[in-house]
Amino acid sequence: MQKAKPIELELAVVNGIELPGHWNRMFEPRVISEYDLSVLDQVTSIEGAESLGYCYQCGKCTAVCPVDTVGDYSPRKVFRRTQLGASLVDSPDLWLCTTCRNCLRVCPKEVNMIEIMPAVREQAVLEGKAPEELLTAFENTARYGNPLGEPPRKRADWVKSAEVPVPVMSQHKAPVDVLWFVECYPSYHPRGKDASVALARLFNALGVEFGILGTEEKCSGDSQRMAGEKGLFEMLAEHNVKMLSKYQFNQIVVTDPHAFNAFLHEYPKYGGQWPVQHYTQFLAPLIDQINLTRPISKKVTFHDPCYLGRHNGEYEAPRNLLKAIPGLDLVEMGHCRETAYCCGGGGGGMWLDSFVRDYTSQRLSEKRVREAVEYGADILAVTCPYEVSRFEDAVKSTGNTGKLEVRDIAELLAYSAELI
Ligand code: SF4
Ligand code: SF4
Repeated sequence: MQKAKPIELELAVVNGIELPGHWNRMFEPRVISEYDLSVLDQVTSIEGAESLGYCYQCGKCTAVCPVDTVGDYSPRKVFRRTQLGASLVDSPDLWLCTTCRNCLRVCPKEVNMIEIMPAVREQAVLEGKAPEELLTAFENTARYGNPLGEPPRKRADWVKSAEVPVPVMSQHKAPVDVLWFVECYPSYHPRGKDASVALARLFNALGVEFGILGTEEKCSGDSQRMAGEKGLFEMLAEHNVKMLSKYQFNQIVVTDPHAFNAFLHEYPKYGGQWPVQHYTQFLAPLIDQINLTRPISKKVTFHDPCYLGRHNGEYEAPRNLLKAIPGLDLVEMGHCRETAYCCGGGGGGMWLDSFVRDYTSQRLSEKRVREAVEYGADILAVTCPYEVSRFEDAVKSTGNTGKLEVRDIAELLAYSAELI
């Protein structure tokens, strides 16, 4: 970058008035600095990444970006570094954004990281520049249909521990009201399975006619899409739409806000257009029919998942369910609803913990756990399958074991209904 000297005339005459010396600077066009914009142009010429060029450096995003609270990051900073010639495709900056959408909420220029990140990451993936741990998650998803690398044939094994009927559509051979799209972590992760068992029992207690795809289900792929693997996402979307299209049902209910996002906004592009609800939205209007007899006399705070709240506007259903539990004292953290800070798992962050560690002072999940503890919560209630494991790890690593429990809302409801 070459810095230009300010132009200073010895004497300028403006509207007949003589302005000697440095005062005349303000009336002459001044070039403060000159940039080689070719690197920025390379980024903004990628389809989807155009809006990075709209940034006018107001800094509003920096004030709300959760990653900036644990590091040095925001769209403003990403724009500035790119403007100064740093290649975004080669920069760690490309992998730090969790696509939490908090910056888009405040940006006057609509610089859209939700579109910029997947577009530029796709380029990086094509050039073989994605972090190793992310590539492992992609490979697992491609090979096994889930990012954990678990065997596809075991996808419905959790059903045995439910000890209530959980019909698998291929065997059920009858229409159902609700097709429950279970997703990967609720099918395989030990703590995810706990929430699945709880939800299966709640569905049974309510007499919901439901079924699952079982081994015919694969990952919804939404986080892989945000992490830059659009091709993999398309494969998964086509597979799931094909499987779902074989069966008759009235609506889809999902456990996972990321799957919710995919079914709402992406799957219709692949022919999958069905009414879809997150399980908290499905249960909230039915709450009076759940016999909540066992009190939970604890202070509970709720972590809004980015992809249920900010991305898709649902803040009330989870809170209405929690408020219905006898004895439960719901306290809000400072960052809640629209301003909630993310757990760090979105946009591929779920599989980038080791990579991110080198560029941040603490994990976002640790920061959130500390916030919950500061507000005096006994239980951190969650409703996204990424969060139980992330926050339970963070409770341990921040030394809060015994002070804070992490529970899915399905678990809290089933406990209060004496189903678990
Ligand atoms: S809020 Fe928008 S315009 Fe302002 S600095 Fe951030 S990205 Fe740029
Ligand atoms: S989407 Fe979230 S993590 Fe990404 S830059 Fe915006 S505020 Fe920061």
